[in-house]
Amino acid sequence: MILFQSEIIRFLQSRHYDRIDAKAALIDMDGTLYDSMRNHTAAWHRLISELGIPCTRDEFYLYEGRTGADTIEMFISRGFGRHATDEEIQRLYHLKTVYFSELPPVPPMPGALEMVTTLRDAGLERVLVTGSGQNSLISRLDTDFPGLFAADRRITSRDVTHGKPDPEPFERAMALAGVTPRQSIVIENAPLGVLAGHRSGAFTIAVTTGPIPYSEMQAAGADIIFPSMEEFAHSLPALLQAMAVTINPL
Ligand code: MG
Repeated sequence: MILFQSEIIRFLQSRHYDRIDAKAALIDMDGTLYDSMRNHTAAWHRLISELGIPCTRDEFYLYEGRTGADTIEMFISRGFGRHATDEEIQRLYHLKTVYFSELPPVPPMPGALEMVTTLRDAGLERVLVTGSGQNSLISRLDTDFPGLFAADRRITSRDVTHGKPDPEPFERAMALAGVTPRQSIVIENAPLGVLAGHRSGAFTIAVTTGPIPYSEMQAAGADIIFPSMEEFAHSLPALLQAMAVTINPL
């Protein structure tokens, strides 16, 4: 039995695809390319607590992937029983980015550079798909991942009407790269991002890089789960090889 073949066959059968024809990798940023979630959850927790709305630091890990506007709307609704105004969304999201920038700088996720380099060497296009609109990280991509994410292959919160868990960000990424779901793989670290990838029809890889348990990734529809980015990067050549040779036996 080829490594990872059972996961690939289960995916092919559930989708009625003949085979995966991987041409593009649609890659999340926070918690996937950068070890940034500790800072994001701290900044959100400070912001929402200062509004007097009860919340816990850990719950923000579960909201990862949502746009800032969606998160603010959820908490204004929870705390005050009304919708957030556009002015509030802009002001509070700006404040969140200020709180984020006051924290120590985030490092690239260990293993992420190797992962993206392996995808490039295998001939896959890379498209960034992030719910973030924070330039502080997006602008570092060219330095930390040189030549690996073209400027016109990036979907951010500014490019979508509906953020993750809606499939729109991944669908837009497929359109950018000119590929179909069968030609795409999604790489994510958060349940809402995994759900968005699953809904887009692409083979969806979950990598746990924070406190989120396997069961949440499974429930969100992950086709395969790796316990760390380093482990995933190490396994990626074998996974790509298995995709290349595995056909739906039905
Ligand atoms: Mg993420």
